[in-house]
Amino acid sequence: MLRRNDIYVRTANIGLQAINFMPTPIITFLTDANADEMQKISLMVDQANRLVANYFGITSAFDVLICCGSWEMEVQMISRRGLPSNMMNGSNLVGLTDYRLGEIVIRFDKAKFGHYLHELIHGIMSKSNPHQLREGMAWHFTEILTEKHRYAKATPPFWAEDLYIRPVRKLARILGNDFLKDLALGNASIEIDSLPNDVQDLFLPEELFYEKKRYGR
Ligand SMILES: [Zn+2]
Repeated sequence: MLRRNDIYVRTANIGLQAINFMPTPIITFLTDANADEMQKISLMVDQANRLVANYFGITSAFDVLICCGSWEMEVQMISRRGLPSNMMNGSNLVGLTDYRLGEIVIRFDKAKFGHYLHELIHGIMSKSNPHQLREGMAWHFTEILTEKHRYAKATPPFWAEDLYIRPVRKLARILGNDFLKDLALGNASIEIDSLPNDVQDLFLPEELFYEKKRYGR
């Protein structure tokens, strides 16, 4: 077991906003949706945004784009550069976060509340964390925040469990979720040498990580 002081330094709360100032993301509809659907979508974005604010003390400044159907999602995916290519076999993708443009895309005909939440959690994460770590943490926190609401649960893609989520759960057991939150926001750093190997892999540069997972170790 690691001692807390050995493994992290808490830095100043740079970038944390007061919760009472809670901007709501701008929602843009790329597709036709009727008034009911539009209302339901804004409600879910709003609720997810509140949940993120309460849990993390900060909200996402990313815009939310709404599309419908696998084709529209695929177009969004293909037209964006710099998304990790491995994760994207787009046909089943429900949401994505484009850190470069500061945009979240949600496929509303498939999305549950948990998917909105998952992408809004992505929206507050520090870009200094490699993709695989952000992905694992975003699913981990989505799981925690929808634990008691079965109807809201989003199922991760099948490959995400082994690749990202299990090692992040392990990391959470070692550090605790409060520290994991600080790490997600970029307010903490960690000495990885003493961590288990699969957890250390979460901190590899993205290209190395995917190469390693593709060809085994
Ligand atoms: Zn994700």
